[in-house]
Amino acid sequence: MNIPFVDLKAQYNSIKSEIDDAIGNVISETAFIGGKYVKKFETEFANLYGVKHCISVANGTDSLYIIMKMLGIQEGDEVITSAYSWISSSETISQTGATPVFVDIDENYYTINEAEIEKKITSKTKAIIPVHIHGQICEMDKILAIAKKHGLYVIEDCAQSHFSEFKGRRAGTMGIASSFSFYPGKNLGAYGDAGCILTNDDALADKFRMYANHGALQKHQHQIEGINSRLDGLQAAILSAKLPYILKWTDERNRCAKKYLELLADVKSVTCTGVRPDSKHSFHLFMIRTNRRDDLQAYLKSEGIETVVHYPKALPNLDCYKYLNLEESYPVATGNESQILSLPIFPELSNESIGYIADKIKEFFKA
Ligand SMILES: *Cc1c(COP(=O)(O)O)cnc(C)c1O
Repeated sequence: MNIPFVDLKAQYNSIKSEIDDAIGNVISETAFIGGKYVKKFETEFANLYGVKHCISVANGTDSLYIIMKMLGIQEGDEVITSAYSWISSSETISQTGATPVFVDIDENYYTINEAEIEKKITSKTKAIIPVHIHGQICEMDKILAIAKKHGLYVIEDCAQSHFSEFKGRRAGTMGIASSFSFYPGKNLGAYGDAGCILTNDDALADKFRMYANHGALQKHQHQIEGINSRLDGLQAAILSAKLPYILKWTDERNRCAKKYLELLADVKSVTCTGVRPDSKHSFHLFMIRTNRRDDLQAYLKSEGIETVVHYPKALPNLDCYKYLNLEESYPVATGNESQILSLPIFPELSNESIGYIADKIKEFFKA
């Protein structure tokens, strides 16, 4: 068997005519930048979330940066985020001139350890960025309460958590604004870079839209200097074509995860990531932890199974953060570096393939 880590082609083939039509329409109508397909996707995505505003942008990194910039976060400020994420969560803090402040993660869920957030709050702290990592939502009740007590903004990084939920509330609907990525491999993926911001705040929505489009809401009316960060029509039309399937695809990811959890339950050398109670996971990734990670990964590769390490280094341990002279050790995030492994997961992955992967994992640990 040959099992890829993700199979974007399988998804394309399952809705090929809809995607091809969507692309054809944009080209024949030359609706490349702005225009009706962008507007349509923004409206559909906002409606699906029951949020007032969706502001589409070029990618899920710009969305974080634009939110912080328009909230006035700047040099001298501090923003708290997770020690374990993709670098966008922290590099965008630095882009505003502010300083990223890392908090270690929960051992079981890999999300920011909410019990350690308050220790990191100073008079300079302006915001908390909870990252709903792998599709696992953060403990939002506690994070929102801490933010309220200290007067901080909560900016949700939802790049990996499309349609995850916490106590019936969707990821991306709880903070002042939230950031989504539609990078091709994300749960809702475009065919290139794409992203968006969700917010219920009318004034902020205008600011985000303005900043992402050279500081102008109307052509040539530049109220501020901005950046060029727009979703293009082709990506918008592709995303609209995929949107009717996203909840079904999220269910399929849950089906895969359930199968893994069932088949790996009695493998003592492997720890699967927990699922937070009262939550709905969207399983962007399915993670295991084992102290024989490198050997297991090599063995699975030799048996035709592609796996990935997300991520080999915790954020505070990256070279680019040496300048922060951090004295802490972030034991959970750092300890995971040599142990975590992402197994294949995508909506089209069959139970048979998952059975094969689980068998090979068991074989490895028996040998
Ligand atoms: C993918 C990702 C981003 C950035 O998204 P891009 O669209 O690739 O810029 C931000 N945060 C997290 C947690 C991500 O996984």
